[in-house]
Amino acid sequence: MNSNGESYVPFEQKMTGVTIPQEWSQYVSSSFNRIFISPASGCSANCAYCFIFEYGHPHRPQVFEIPPSRIAAWLQSEPLFRAGKSGTLLSLAPFCDAFAPEVTDTTLEFVRALAPLKNPIQLSTKYYVDETTAKKLGDLQDVAGQIVLYVTITSFKLWRQLEPATDAPSLRLKGSLNVRHYGINTCLSIKPVLPGITELEAESFAKAIGDYRIPFCALGVMYSSKNIEVRMRARRMISSDLECRLRAAGRIPPPPHSYEQGLRAWDIPTLDIAQKLLLTMKAAGAECVVSGPCAIALSYDVLCPTGVWRYLPHLCVPCQANCRSRFAESSSVVRAPFLSENPYAQPVGG
Ligand code: SF4
Repeated sequence: MNSNGESYVPFEQKMTGVTIPQEWSQYVSSSFNRIFISPASGCSANCAYCFIFEYGHPHRPQVFEIPPSRIAAWLQSEPLFRAGKSGTLLSLAPFCDAFAPEVTDTTLEFVRALAPLKNPIQLSTKYYVDETTAKKLGDLQDVAGQIVLYVTITSFKLWRQLEPATDAPSLRLKGSLNVRHYGINTCLSIKPVLPGITELEAESFAKAIGDYRIPFCALGVMYSSKNIEVRMRARRMISSDLECRLRAAGRIPPPPHSYEQGLRAWDIPTLDIAQKLLLTMKAAGAECVVSGPCAIALSYDVLCPTGVWRYLPHLCVPCQANCRSRFAESSSVVRAPFLSENPYAQPVGG
């Protein structure tokens, strides 16, 4: 339940058939072919656009106090979980920052327990990853390309207003060099793309890709809600373009890729800006995608685990992962989860 007393029911938790113990609900959720596991619930970075607070996550991280080995055992007991390189995507730290100082040790413990399953793993951060942590992360990776660290930046100029308690983008990028040094692939995650802010800094993002040798770049949409709008206004972060898009968002049908029922009406249409930015990032030398899991496909040389090319084709760039032909040539075991029915389709009346 959020601070307005509204409650949001994780939508695909039911749809995917994964059975998550009630006491883990602040830390574990699922969507199609993807399980989200958070080493902590909450974040003290206080980002203006963050939606985790809408789900009742606190403004200080509370570590998930469960032995990660128990989570690994639970995964293997779940009939819909598939272990291995072409298996279920493990998205760590959806409800916290993976490398916030209070969370780093727990994140590494989860990686230690889960990496031996060989599943693709994604982590994201707005903090500096120091060399010691980077080495530990590199040592824990089981197979080359398995782990991707998403270094998230929305604005180089306005980060203090937007994300007051994070580390500066220059430090985040320095951390990306550390993890690259220890064999972890990095993705510049330009997320959320804020109308009237992010797009004006295209050249700075492109420079970062070149300077920090970042192989992948993903661009993410913005979500909004009453609380997010209030925070953005209080920090004077609403451009006239965003103002128009916020107003329009309530009048258009929700796009099919919003995976949380409560967020559906909040998805601000920014794909047009993302696609423009993508061309600049591509010219800077990164392999670019719109949907985050596509960077995993590129890094780990697998099909996009969330089936973007098949179910959300408007988000398929396409890229060198070449999912369409790869799927056609894949074995029946690899193709098995990608049924023809669209798992992101909204239920009638939903
Ligand atoms: S081919 Fe399309 S779906 Fe596959 S990884 Fe690239 S952008 Fe994503």
